[in-house]
Amino acid sequence: MSSKRDGEVIVPGATIGILGGGQLGRMMALAGRPMGYRFVCLDPTPDSSCAQVCDEQIVAPFDDVDAARELVNLASVVTYEFENISPAVAAVLQDESYLPQGTQLLRTTRHRAREKRAIIAAGAQVASFAEISDQALFEKALEKLGVPSVLKTATGGYDGKGQRVIKDIGAGAQAYTTLADQGDLVLERFIDFQCELSVVVARGTTGERMTFPVAENIHVDNRLHLSIAPARVGDDIKEEVSEIALAIADSLDMVGLLGIEFFLGRDGEIYVNEMAPRPHNSGHYTMDGCLTSQFEQHLRAICGLPLGNPHQHTPVVMANLLGQHVEPWLEQLVKPRPSNLELKTHLYGKSPAREGRKMGHVNILADDVEEALQWVESCSVWSDLQS
Ligand code: AMP
Repeated sequence: MSSKRDGEVIVPGATIGILGGGQLGRMMALAGRPMGYRFVCLDPTPDSSCAQVCDEQIVAPFDDVDAARELVNLASVVTYEFENISPAVAAVLQDESYLPQGTQLLRTTRHRAREKRAIIAAGAQVASFAEISDQALFEKALEKLGVPSVLKTATGGYDGKGQRVIKDIGAGAQAYTTLADQGDLVLERFIDFQCELSVVVARGTTGERMTFPVAENIHVDNRLHLSIAPARVGDDIKEEVSEIALAIADSLDMVGLLGIEFFLGRDGEIYVNEMAPRPHNSGHYTMDGCLTSQFEQHLRAICGLPLGNPHQHTPVVMANLLGQHVEPWLEQLVKPRPSNLELKTHLYGKSPAREGRKMGHVNILADDVEEALQWVESCSVWSDLQS
């Protein structure tokens, strides 16, 4: 059983519980308040990003089972905004709350090899890979997959943490030694890609599902810098990517949102890279570019409401604001805006503004994404990320 009341409609006025107090929870609450929902979140940091816009915050560690129970008791429905939920807390959510998303999807996506097997089972393609549990298996896999390849920790890695690109066979042993103490590993073929794409797919408790328009993503130092929507690829690619996303969502029988990242190879092949069972950074453009944002859609999906129309009405380039960009952005904000653009600022209320920490994002609206991209290129705010 994923819940006690599968498919129940949670009407506005009800309280939604969010496990996690980060920016994704904050933007969920900001989307849900105009609809009439109330929010309570659980996070160890007082006055967390999400708590600032919630009715209530429970300040407690994420693995505090009693605190999770308190969240469950205050909320008519519970969701989460990060994936690394402890098994004990997951059990409380599963057994004692209405958690329409269930915990199975979390289990699948928190382990890279399990995730890849689920993607393949849905009929989609991933980069050739091998599961590594000891050095002998690693050596065999490296010989088979060749170089360049990427060695990744199976769990806990994000934004490029816990991974090493292996460019020549001789460097393999060093990469293995660096990551070997971090549990299971996955070795995958390095994809020579034209671009990276992503899609956010939503699926409601009724099985209704839809995808948001495909975004094109530019990473710098393995961290998302820009999302460009619509992506600058042909309609055939966008359609194929969206179909793959729907097939994965159906195959997983999921509820809520799933952000799926893809490589479009130079060979024209589409490979799924990874998935996250929550709103996705590359879907932040929907807040200002689409009739329904990914955050509203998530709430609609878990509350049993009909999904909103994801139609994109304006081209958008989303640029992340990292710690080092906040001050320059605040200076930029008071300057007259470029006449051909609309700049929408989203700051998450986090402090301190440490270098590399995600502090906010800007949605740059234009008639054409190229105009927005040119402006980002010329703007000194992101000069540290430009080549
Ligand atoms: P990940 O944490 O798996 O999303 O990896 C972070 C980034 O590293 C990706 O967005 C890619 O830019 C790059 N990357 C990861 N795996 C591969 C791969 N197999 N081939 C090419 N680039 C990769």
